[in-house]
Amino acid sequence: TKNNGRNGYTFFQPSMNMQAQSQLQLNNDLWHALDNNELRLFYQPKYCAPRGPILGFEALLRWEHPARGLLTPDHFLPMAEKTGMIVSIGNWVINEACRQLRQWHLQGHPHWSVAVNLSSLQFEQSNLVETVTEALAKHEIPPELLTLEVTETTAMRDPDESVRILTELTKLGVKASIDDFGTGYSSLLYLKRLPASELKIDRAFVNELQHHSEDATIVSAIVALAQSLQLKVVAEGVETAEQQAFLTGLGCNTLQGYLLGKPIPPERISELDNFVGT
Ligand code: C2E
Ligand code: CA
Ligand code: CA
Ligand code: CA
Repeated sequence: TKNNGRNGYTFFQPSMNMQAQSQLQLNNDLWHALDNNELRLFYQPKYCAPRGPILGFEALLRWEHPARGLLTPDHFLPMAEKTGMIVSIGNWVINEACRQLRQWHLQGHPHWSVAVNLSSLQFEQSNLVETVTEALAKHEIPPELLTLEVTETTAMRDPDESVRILTELTKLGVKASIDDFGTGYSSLLYLKRLPASELKIDRAFVNELQHHSEDATIVSAIVALAQSLQLKVVAEGVETAEQQAFLTGLGCNTLQGYLLGKPIPPERISELDNFVGT
């Protein structure tokens, strides 16, 4: 074994390729990231269509790795899912997002909401309701200002169970959002039964809006479907003024994307457009 110089040992096998080794090292590091305060939440604004006011923010996880710099979730979340570490990380995210929301309230933004992504493993934890309840109480958050985003794929894995879990969660007063909508295969019957208040159209559809007429057709259909089920529609990944105009015209309530604001650390949100007066 070879000492990794920080928190213990990494097994070193000459046969292992560089990428696998580096992945293993990252995995080791992740165990300490929480304790060492290396995890951060960035916040991406959600704007009332077409360009404001700001309705709230989606919390997006980042890892400030001491050697590798700022890492986005694609570098470490798949691994955290496999090892189960995502559960403790996810609980930290819920708590930290609630703490930040409380700060915003004290700073004069009582209507802002915060959305947190739940991994499927975290969604299936029997103590999730308890974790959310405790975070709301600890930070004195009005429950309706916390949204829990669950992907369509997660929600459809065991639809009856998802209805049960989401019913329990929404009884607390929090909102549920179906994320990455359009990429899974929802049964309309279940979609109707899910106690969600919002659908988020996946970035992939928004991306292709101008280039492929099929995507425009799909997006129009999703918006119509959401409206018939009395769900709010959020479009993510809005990058151009054309997309902004098209989505607003279709009746999307909320827009999120680089055009309006990238995910940023909380100390930078005062730089956002339409920040004042919202
Ligand atoms: P997501 O929930 O679909 O989040 C949207 C992703 O799209 C984010 O990537 C965001 O930075 C990016 N994005 C937003 N607007 C634009 C745009 O206009 N153009 C482009 N190209 N990208 C845009 P990010 O932050 O890298 O997160 C990736 C995924 O990681 C998220 O996808 C979510 O599934 C997951 N994730 C992030 N934070 C958490 C967390 O705290 N817990 C869990 N379980 N998953 C998380
Ligand atoms: Ca999301
Ligand atoms: Ca997405
Ligand atoms: Ca996603």
